[in-house]
Amino acid sequence: MVISKDEINQVVKKYDKNKITICTIGSHSALHVFRGAYDEGFRRCAICAKGREVPYQRYKSAEEFIMVDKFSDVNDEKIQQQLRDMNAVIVPHGSFVAYVGLDRIENDFLVPMIGNRNILRWEAERDRVTKLFEAANIRKPMKINGPDKIDRACMVKFPGARGGRGYFVTDSPAGFDEKMKLMINKGWLTEEDRAKAHIEEYVAGDIYCMHYFYSPLTKTVELLGMDRRHEANIDGLVRIPAKDQIEAGLQPTYVVTGNFPIVARESLLDQAFGMGDRLAEVAEKMVPPGLLGAFCIQTMCTDNLEFVAFEISARQDGGTNTFMNGSPYSYLLYGDGMSMGRRYSREVKNALAADRLEDILT
Ligand code: AMP
Repeated sequence: MVISKDEINQVVKKYDKNKITICTIGSHSALHVFRGAYDEGFRRCAICAKGREVPYQRYKSAEEFIMVDKFSDVNDEKIQQQLRDMNAVIVPHGSFVAYVGLDRIENDFLVPMIGNRNILRWEAERDRVTKLFEAANIRKPMKINGPDKIDRACMVKFPGARGGRGYFVTDSPAGFDEKMKLMINKGWLTEEDRAKAHIEEYVAGDIYCMHYFYSPLTKTVELLGMDRRHEANIDGLVRIPAKDQIEAGLQPTYVVTGNFPIVARESLLDQAFGMGDRLAEVAEKMVPPGLLGAFCIQTMCTDNLEFVAFEISARQDGGTNTFMNGSPYSYLLYGDGMSMGRRYSREVKNALAADRLEDILT
């Protein structure tokens, strides 16, 4: 049974509002969630998988550590109770969704989180992302209906958050078969993936991933940062002169290995705000209470100076790690030091002051 807002409100009602603990799992973009909670004066709890606790301990991320064998163990009733007893507010991020699992988050994990637990599924399913983009009038790459219809440069993708693993570029049905074989030999894809391939036009442009925060308290979308991704091996490959690239015969791959901060031409910001505002607006109607908290639109900016969006994160995206101590954009709104993680804690603080904690949690 899906966890209802009412059930969460019952939990929040029993919370000691003076002793809220900000909590997440130690992975992905947790470091600035914890630092931000510290800066806003909250107690912190890090849930760490054995063997992966080092960064969180070395950066003194939390007062309390819960060690688990695997992250999905947070679902155990004992751990859930421990979290509720410390008045925990969970900040969800990419690893939280990937490791705890959508079904568990929706049905079993009865600990309040800041964000909309029911919209997380939407980022993971391409048809739902398309629905959101269409409703929000956001340009997306043209979809090609099957390998035999490939008549231009295409990007071929596969479901699930694989960090770009297995993606390839091709411009013909024969090229599709050839690259599919290469990826299967590499062990990155299986025969079954063939039918799951999502094929879309290759958008030649520059990557801009925009990090927004939607506050239900102020009903405003804030644009807090932008990043682009470092991807292996494509970002390395392009350093080889064209002649040597051909000789080397290497296949480009798109595995995200890191991020770097970026600012867009100022004249592009209208478009960036427009996309964020419209997406938040349609999401509120389609999946109430909408894109509460952090969300990200991943785009290519073309030489027509138009953003084409190819993905969203309906929670804190990993690219927020580029502004652990603030970005040029967050500086404009908040001055120094406002990370996305800190913005979450600020929201909790604002909600507490307005006696509206229930409004930001699901
Ligand atoms: P994603 O997993 O969707 O974030 O994509 C991983 C990477 O693949 C992106 O950061 C881009 O470099 C590339 N990419 C994805 N979609 C497209 C597209 N339609 N056209 C060109 N490159 C793309």
